[in-house]
Amino acid sequence: MAKFSSNGEADFLVGSFAQKMSEFSSRNTAEIDYGDSLVARKISKLHDSKIPHAYCGIFGIVRTMKRLFFSVLLFSFFLPIFVSGAGRAIIEIQPKTIMQGETLVIKVTPTVFSGTSTISAWVGSRRLWLFPYNDSFLGFYSAPAKATPMRYRATIAVNREPAVKIPVTIKNAKFPVTKLVVTDQLKNSGFTSNTIGSNLATNDTPALIGALAHPSNKPYFTKSFGYPLEKIVNVGAFGNYRKSGKTVLQHLGTDLEATPGTPVYAINDGVVTMATRLINYGNTIVIDHGAHIFSMSLHLDRFSVSPGDRITKGQIIGYSGNTGYSIAPHFHLSVNVNGTSIDPLKFIETTQTAMK
Ligand SMILES: [Zn+2]
Repeated sequence: MAKFSSNGEADFLVGSFAQKMSEFSSRNTAEIDYGDSLVARKISKLHDSKIPHAYCGIFGIVRTMKRLFFSVLLFSFFLPIFVSGAGRAIIEIQPKTIMQGETLVIKVTPTVFSGTSTISAWVGSRRLWLFPYNDSFLGFYSAPAKATPMRYRATIAVNREPAVKIPVTIKNAKFPVTKLVVTDQLKNSGFTSNTIGSNLATNDTPALIGALAHPSNKPYFTKSFGYPLEKIVNVGAFGNYRKSGKTVLQHLGTDLEATPGTPVYAINDGVVTMATRLINYGNTIVIDHGAHIFSMSLHLDRFSVSPGDRITKGQIIGYSGNTGYSIAPHFHLSVNVNGTSIDPLKFIETTQTAMK
């Protein structure tokens, strides 16, 4: 499992509203992981509107006046409470309990700005990449598929005053174990359960590490994330383990039904960091969406974009196929947030709820 870290000043500089997109970076050390893909049996259809309608939840009020001992008030009401003092913020976390691979949103709404205001947020030891949205700052936290199921602490610091700490819980998703399938056609192409593992170690994983190595701190996007295909039918769930002999892979993306040549759309604005053929993943596109969010499109038939291209949400980036280690035509989507691949469909739904 690869590791990476980047250095630098971590806080998000708020400053004036007009300048709130100042540079920020991280000391965060995150684990990078990826998805392996193959088409499993059809598992479930996606349904709309599984997400709670209202974006609301726990509110905390932070008093950040210097030399004042901080106070934190938590309410399970849907109305914020206002207290006197400078540099206050309303903090919302939604939801407070997620499964491995799922995403929560931290929303920080400063009620008083000063020219030197700062906001930063973590869940456990992972830093969130806050970005401005309307009158607030949003940060997406996605639980790694391998996160230890337990209660974590969300820590939100405003103006470098003592931080607000709010518990969030990650639950065990109990991902099922299925058989790693190698068809005769794949065997004829040189794939075995052993080479599938070694291809990752020697080629595909190092290539993806390169494509994810220089994340943009600033978001390229201004809207929520969208779906990559016209029609979304989940035929290979996120998180399943696939096992054959000593080879065990975890499927860190979602397989979507797609006949060869189906147009694939960019799920948001961004910059292409890879468009190349990998051994297991086949024709692969990686897009940096900023705020440490990447999407990865695997097993494509062909590309419509090149590395370095600036792309917009909904733009056709390529066409689905059956390249690499793939047992049938389909489209595999992975989304990598803060160095970990998470359930892409849940992520998209969460951004749509948060960024209405
Ligand atoms: Zn897949």
